Amino acid sequence: MKESFYGQEEKLEKIRKRIKGVENRRVGSEVFDQSTLLTLYDLANRGNIWVLNGVVKTGKEANVFHGEDKNGNSIAIKIHRVTTRDYNAMLKYIDGDRRFKNFRRNKRGIINTWVRKEYKNLQRAIACNVRVPVPVAFKNNVILMEFIGESNVPAVMLKDYVMKNPTAMFNTIKRYVKNLYCSCNLVHADLSEYNILIWNDVPVVIDFSQAVIREHPRSEEFFKRDITNLVRFFSKYIELEEEKVLKSIKGC
Ligand code: ADP
Ligand code: MN
Repeated sequence: MKESFYGQEEKLEKIRKRIKGVENRRVGSEVFDQSTLLTLYDLANRGNIWVLNGVVKTGKEANVFHGEDKNGNSIAIKIHRVTTRDYNAMLKYIDGDRRFKNFRRNKRGIINTWVRKEYKNLQRAIACNVRVPVPVAFKNNVILMEFIGESNVPAVMLKDYVMKNPTAMFNTIKRYVKNLYCSCNLVHADLSEYNILIWNDVPVVIDFSQAVIREHPRSEEFFKRDITNLVRFFSKYIELEEEKVLKSIKGC
């Protein structure tokens, strides 16, 4: 391949031009360390990233950017920081999930697994008819997926959305959770009004890195916590009994 003739410096120079000076901003210089730049370069080379625009969301652990693939489709580019994280907390969601056994138990190994886990979980969720961003590609600490929103503005979170019909919204999300649990064998494990975006009045569940299979020793605990969060939020709008909701979802 032609690209392989480039030296590291040229590679970096090329991707630096592509990312439109984002790295010069404060957030940029933190996120785009040399190895992340090389990862982005690789994804750009594969055609998965054509442009990398501005930051959509700056988080403690990850930054989400808006970008475009080579066909002009909007993509979300989620870049995980490799420093300052609670790696032991992450391991609680990886260990016990038989899909992820052989990985390096250092910072990078854990982050890479975290990213791969989100990719796999998103694929799984789609297979059981749960509306989530379509995963596009992943490498090291970077995952690309369908961008939920308009141009570079992400869709509103459920917590800020003015619902026309809270009962219908709750029922849709309940169906998602049941599909995940019963058909996908998956528990989201961080479900809340913060990790559900609303696009065209349809809920889209995001943030799947921590989601575990039901065989995970703590999956029931995580599942209950998800339901508690959901019921707590929707109880502001409709009358719900947590026990009943739990039972109806678990009745596969
Ligand atoms: P974390 O909470 O771990 O930082 P999330 O996956 O929840 O990571 O993403 C953080 C924020 O980035 C979301 O609240 C949303 O605003 C934005 N975001 C994440 N994924 C997408 C996406 N696929 N499309 C549009 N915006 C997204
Ligand atoms: Mn989140």
